[in-house]
Amino acid sequence: MQTFVRCLYLLAILSGGQLAHAADTPQPWGSLRLLEREIPPGEKRKFSYQATRTFEGSFLDTAVFVARGRRAGPTLCLVAMIHGDERNGFEVAREVFSGTDAGSLAGTLIALPAANVHGFRTGSRYMPDRRDLNRSFPGSPTGSNSAVIASIIFGTLREQCTAVIDLHTGSFDRGNLPQVRVDLANERALDLARTFGAPVIIGGAGPKGSMRRELMEAGIPTIIYEAGLPLRFEPDEIAAGVRGVRNVMVGLGMTSGRATPPTPATRVFSRSSWARVPLGQGGVYYPARQAGEDVRKGDIVARIYDPFTDERYDVPSPLDGYIVGLAVPQVVFSGYALVHIARR
Ligand SMILES: [Zn+2]
Repeated sequence: MQTFVRCLYLLAILSGGQLAHAADTPQPWGSLRLLEREIPPGEKRKFSYQATRTFEGSFLDTAVFVARGRRAGPTLCLVAMIHGDERNGFEVAREVFSGTDAGSLAGTLIALPAANVHGFRTGSRYMPDRRDLNRSFPGSPTGSNSAVIASIIFGTLREQCTAVIDLHTGSFDRGNLPQVRVDLANERALDLARTFGAPVIIGGAGPKGSMRRELMEAGIPTIIYEAGLPLRFEPDEIAAGVRGVRNVMVGLGMTSGRATPPTPATRVFSRSSWARVPLGQGGVYYPARQAGEDVRKGDIVARIYDPFTDERYDVPSPLDGYIVGLAVPQVVFSGYALVHIARR
């Protein structure tokens, strides 16, 4: 993390920013102007931002939490519920914000705890226009409803954030072992991921149009924290997320204290694959192994029972690896992704 923080200071010096002064000299630091609000140093605000004041605008509102530190420092941004059914991240953002003392904070914490507010209300992954917000970045103010929201979020984050943590869970009845996803080729983002301190780091740049990939291309180090199942609040996964964000705040010099090392120690994987339901083998599925277990290629990781014939299909692991996510028992069809395995 030291290199990352030094890089931030160097960047600030080059850009004439607020971090250009030595830590022991008084630094210029004032109120933050954000989305038509002003947040003075040492204060916290929660507000709902509407892009327009019309009736239409109420469908485009975005909840915003801001803690403006009393002292100068970097800006860490948290985004949760880009997928409106992935609730654990909401609690990670809320708990971290609630526990942040703006009086002793250096820098600024900005949280968008429910980026897809519509999905939060309805339990849907998608936006009111049925698009995936996490394929709509960087967005456009003249585009679809999803593109408009994406452009507000993207513009705000690109302008404000030193680093971004995007909070997710597994999708559609799949649970994820707490893990960080990051572009391993980007040193600043990898530093951020290691500082977070999850037991698992998985490499990859993410799909085109996803917030993380587009922010990374705009030069903002961004990681994803993935943990647990959608449509519920899971205390352990939330606690691990809160710990990780607090570790990053310590690493960035925003708060004092010590980072909590991950247990077990972090393992880094360059990529991952799915064990899927083979063609013609749908039925009632049960996992045969658990998240957090090592598997070898050919090990049985899932069992499927055909309800008409009672025939059992054993689904083998397609590779040597480590189980980082899996579906809950359910009826499944050919091609369905069952077990997510990180490649050793
Ligand atoms: Zn997601």
